[in-house]
Amino acid sequence: MEKLEAIPLEIDVEDVKKRLRSGDWEHVQTLLGFAKPLISFGAVYGVCYVEEKLENAVVIDGVRFGSRVLRKNLENVGRVFPYVVTIGKELDRKADACSDFLERYYLDAIGNVAIGKARKYLEDHLRSRFALTGLSFMSPGSLGDWPIEEQRPLFSILKGAETSIGVELTESFLMIPRKSISGIYFPTEVTFYNCQLCPRPKCEGRKARYNEGMAKEYGIVK
Ligand code: SF4
Repeated sequence: MEKLEAIPLEIDVEDVKKRLRSGDWEHVQTLLGFAKPLISFGAVYGVCYVEEKLENAVVIDGVRFGSRVLRKNLENVGRVFPYVVTIGKELDRKADACSDFLERYYLDAIGNVAIGKARKYLEDHLRSRFALTGLSFMSPGSLGDWPIEEQRPLFSILKGAETSIGVELTESFLMIPRKSISGIYFPTEVTFYNCQLCPRPKCEGRKARYNEGMAKEYGIVK
């Protein structure tokens, strides 16, 4: 398992503006000053191999993952990169202790920007270190096809995530610190987005349009 820490990332008010449609940007600027020292980036990833391709599952480094979509995405893939990324607990603590709803909302948005940047840092690192051009990811729980329970096998591959970067998996398969993300990166020619297979209306995080034809092709709708 590889570890990245002390990731050098800059966050400014323009990054938060891209995430929120409107806001009191002076207030956000002030909060950024408090928030930045509380952010502690860490990432771990594995360099793993797809050992078996079953009907609706794959076996990676001896661990079975049940997902029709993941199986299809790995059709021509031999090497994958399971990962966990976090920004630590302190910003969550600050937000939880905050009685002002708006301030809490802004701190949450700053945390979301930070974790997004940390993931991008990991992605750029993988591209550069392994000479990859196209790279996509999937996360357990992001589609009905790959439920949140699949965090368990993912964490069994990344056994040192807790001691290494302090990310713990709870009995209900959530991660602590809350601002942590996990999944599997894999090489692709065309970027894959979970959102292409997700019909949920009005999602602020949507990165690509829902594509019903693609959902049929993946076999998750009839
Ligand atoms: S549309 Fe929203 S809920 Fe659906 S996969 Fe994309 S980000 Fe997740």
